[in-house]
Amino acid sequence: MLAQRTHLFKSSGTAAARAAAKAAADAGMEIVDLTAGEIWSDLAPTIRDGAIEAIRQGLNRYTDTIGLMGLREALARKVSAETGQTWPAEEIAVTSGAKQALFNVAMTLINPGDQVIIPAPYWTTFPAQIQIAGGTPVHIDTRENGYVPRIDDIQRVITPLTRAIVVNTPGNPSGAVCDAETLMGIGRLAVERDLWIIFDECYEPFTYDCHRHHPLVSLVPEVRARTVIVNSFSKSLALTGWRVGYLAAPKELILAVRALQSHTTSNPNVIAQHAVLHHLLEGDGAFEAQLREQLTAARQAGLAALSQLRCVPIPEAQGGFYFYLDLSGVLRPTLENGHAETSDDIVSVLLSQAGVAGVSGTAFGDPNGLRFSYGIPPELLQAGLERVVRVLNAWN
Ligand code: PLP
Repeated sequence: MLAQRTHLFKSSGTAAARAAAKAAADAGMEIVDLTAGEIWSDLAPTIRDGAIEAIRQGLNRYTDTIGLMGLREALARKVSAETGQTWPAEEIAVTSGAKQALFNVAMTLINPGDQVIIPAPYWTTFPAQIQIAGGTPVHIDTRENGYVPRIDDIQRVITPLTRAIVVNTPGNPSGAVCDAETLMGIGRLAVERDLWIIFDECYEPFTYDCHRHHPLVSLVPEVRARTVIVNSFSKSLALTGWRVGYLAAPKELILAVRALQSHTTSNPNVIAQHAVLHHLLEGDGAFEAQLREQLTAARQAGLAALSQLRCVPIPEAQGGFYFYLDLSGVLRPTLENGHAETSDDIVSVLLSQAGVAGVSGTAFGDPNGLRFSYGIPPELLQAGLERVVRVLNAWN
């Protein structure tokens, strides 16, 4: 009945985990939901003011397909400041969240049969979009290297069909932050082997301890002509529902994105665009600092709770707002049904016995992993993780 391409994707693993948590809550269970990839927070005052003012002015019409010129200019200034290079507005497109930016990139850059290297564990949408575009995801396992890709491993899987490498730092689900040396290696490799880099830095404001985010193009300026930077305000301003993202890329690609977007969604929501523009012009950084403080405190409290785990290493949680657990120490190699236990089994038990919802690593190409978000209110996080520790420590 349906088109063949519907076999290429199913609802994202994170959405499925959220749905399971909601179903358990609807059935009357008291659930602590640690699945969401978003931050519990009020709106930034500048976002609220910008949106209200846009409504007051009665702004209800289409904008340019790839965003208000004023917003593209403000984003160009943001990218220029972050990378230390000059970016004109012609190299920026505003999208409905980073997800649309990435989809645009997949559709305008990937030919059927092209291979795209995606380090695993990966955010589940990366391979799905590549497949929808007719490409083939090629995964490399980063688990032995603290979830940071090794240059040798990338090099080993490059073939004449390789078109691009996805770099997501800080990474979802692992929270790993790519060090400068790794990024320089990837950048040089891309130049040498004529590859594109899809650089997703949506979690860029959230790094901890000694870890720092490095914009790839600042480290390897020659790679700029073959790099697409993808970012959004979903995480950085706790604005997931407003759907404002952007991409920065060579002009030719932006023109193709404009044409594609003109046949798909047209412009991102006009009120949300004005709100973000107002924030970029008037924001003083206080809201961002407050979000970072909130997450730093949540991370610290969460790591203290997780330090009680006996057979599961404490996650490093270098960036983002996820604790990514390696469950390999507690997974049984053979179950009664002859299968190996995976994090799916543990996620089900945590939901039924601890009333805590997390996302199984199988959604991210890693049957040993388990992701908890710490973007939720502190008392819930504390209660949830204590229950997780109790159940995992009793696991046999
Ligand atoms: N990129 C990564 C790595 C993400 O984790 C997410 C959302 O979870 C996105 C992109 C999508 O962000 P947006 O909500 O802006 O579409």
